[in-house]
Parts: sequence; C-alpha cells; structure tokens
Amino acid sequence: RAKRAGGNRVEPFQPAFRDFGTDRLQLETDLRRAIERKELSMVYQPIARLEDVEVAGFEALMRWEHPKRGNIPPSEFIPIAEASDLIGPLGMFALEQATNDLMSWQHQTGELPIFVSINLSSVQLLNNELYDDVRSVLAKTHCQPSRLKLELTESMVMENPEQARLVLQKLKEAGIGLALDDFGTGYSSLAYLTRFPFDTIKLDKALVRDSSDKKATVLRSVIAMARELDMKVVAEGIESNEDAIELAKMGCNYGQSYLFGPPIPSESVLRLLRDRFPLTKRA
Ligand code: C2E
Ligand code: MG
Ligand code: MG
Ligand code: MG
Repeated sequence: RAKRAGGNRVEPFQPAFRDFGTDRLQLETDLRRAIERKELSMVYQPIARLEDVEVAGFEALMRWEHPKRGNIPPSEFIPIAEASDLIGPLGMFALEQATNDLMSWQHQTGELPIFVSINLSSVQLLNNELYDDVRSVLAKTHCQPSRLKLELTESMVMENPEQARLVLQKLKEAGIGLALDDFGTGYSSLAYLTRFPFDTIKLDKALVRDSSDKKATVLRSVIAMARELDMKVVAEGIESNEDAIELAKMGCNYGQSYLFGPPIPSESVLRLLRDRFPLTKRA
C-alpha cells in the first residue's frame, strides 16, 4: 500500500522482517513434526582426558535433518523450540536418546567408565518436572546417575537463581554430574558461581583460543581456582597440540574440540570405543 501511494518508494526493512517471521513460523511448524518423522538425532563429541588423551566421555549434541533444507544447526532451532512449547519434548528426546545410547555402548563394550553430558535449556531447568524426568529416565535405562552430566550456562542459572539452586542441589544429591557450560562468555565470577553445585566447568572456546599473555593469566587463574574448588575443567575449542599440552600443564583436566574429534553418530562411538579400549587393555 505504501508502495502504491509513494510511486517507486520502497521500504527496505519490512519485507525482510516479514520473511523472517514467516520463516520462523514455518520452521516451528516443521520442528513440531520433526520428532515423529525421525528427523532429529543425537551426535556425540569425545571429551578427552588431557593427561593421556584417552576418551573420558561424550557431549550429546542435537541434529536436525530437515527434509528440504538439510542440516539446520541447533543455534537456529533450539531458540525456536525454547520460544514455543517444543523445548519440553526436544529436551526429553535428548535425555532419553543419549541415555539409551550410553547404555547400549556400555552393554556392548563391557561397562567402560565413560559419561555422557547433555545440554539443558533454561525452560527445562525452571520447569518443575526436570528432576523427576531425569530420575525416571535413569531408572528406566538402569543408568548410574554418575554416568550422566547435565550442562547449563550461567545465564540459565541467573534467570532464577533460587529455583535453579534448589533443582541443581536435588540433582547433585542424586549423584548426577553438573557442568557449567560456556564459562568465560558471561559476567559472573567463578566465586559467585560456586553457590551452585557444579562439579565441572567448561571453558568456552573464546577464552581458550585467545593466546595473548593476559588471557593466559586469566586461564591459569580460572583453572587454579576451579581445582581449589574441587571442580574438573574442560577446555573447549583447543586447536593445537601445543595448546593442549599448555592447558594440561595449567591443570586443565579435559579437552573437547575438533582436535580430539568431531561429533559423531552413536554407531561410530561404539566403533571408537572398541578400537580404543580393546578388552585386553582394560583394567
Ligand atoms: P555447546 O553446548 O557449547 O556445544 C559445543 C559446540 O561447539 C557444538 O556446536 C560443537 O559441535 C562445537 N564445537 C566442538 N568442537 C569445536 C571446535 O573445535 N571448533 C568449533 N568452532 N566448534 C566446536 P553445536 O553442535 O552446533 O551446538 C551449538 C549449541 O547448541 C551448543 O553449544 C548448545 O548450547 C546447543 N545445543 C546443542 N544440542 C543441544 C541439545 O540437545 N539441547 C539443548 N538445550 N541445546 C543444545
Ligand atoms: Mg554444551
Ligand atoms: Mg559449551
Ligand atoms: Mg557454546
């Protein structure tokens, strides 16, 4: 209408804005059907112990293979799920699938001491069913609570610190691992975050990668502090062997990056475990 009235005048922003809206709505509609159509899957990225470069566990990451658009990254579809009622079913899918896969690796490799780490969303953290959901999945799959870690970010916890602390305390008491994800991207100090029962912190790749002298000092002190607080440290995004060695010297326990391997499907995890832990090598 504005166009007709003003002759050739165009409004550059509106069409793009409208497209974004419909696109998002379309994706939400598609995501709604994605679970039953088996378009969602979990892939697993190895988390390596730095001292011997052995696999300690895996982070479970969700993938969506859209029938028309191909692979849509979680950075795109998780926010859509969070803004709708879809994050509940998606979160449940991640939890059930990852725990089932872990147990099937366990059965087929003879109980290797590995863990699986699952990302939560703030909606899950603040909804009252999380604790019961996690307990019921563990019971159903006969999975030991200590084999499961849940990853949360500082901003998720800060949305409602009191409620978060209560839920996290219950999960911790049940023996479930709790990791603080993306540390170094927010504003809180590690000292503040110890008010929550995290046993692991994951240093974001932004913090790990900057190799300036000052960053090295920050890294060294964060790692030292985490160790004093009895927390394990995972460094994300390590790019070279030199950096891995340097981080190990600083006392960092684990690394997770393409250097140690990309996220892979469950069948490949099984092969990897069988190759790396032949029966004779096990304690
Ligand atoms: P995150 O939890 O911090 O996961 C780590 C991300 O870094 C993953 O991206 C992983 O593929 C990527 N990555 C690993 N190593 C490297 C590396 O060496 N270089 C670079 N550049 N990237 C690396 P991905 O799979 O795209 O996931 C992105 C984010 O989406 C995750 O960040 C997490 O916040 C969220 N997400 C993924 N799966 C789930 C899920 O099942 N539930 C929820 N709530 N969020 C999920
Ligand atoms: Mg994570
Ligand atoms: Mg992370
Ligand atoms: Mg991240």
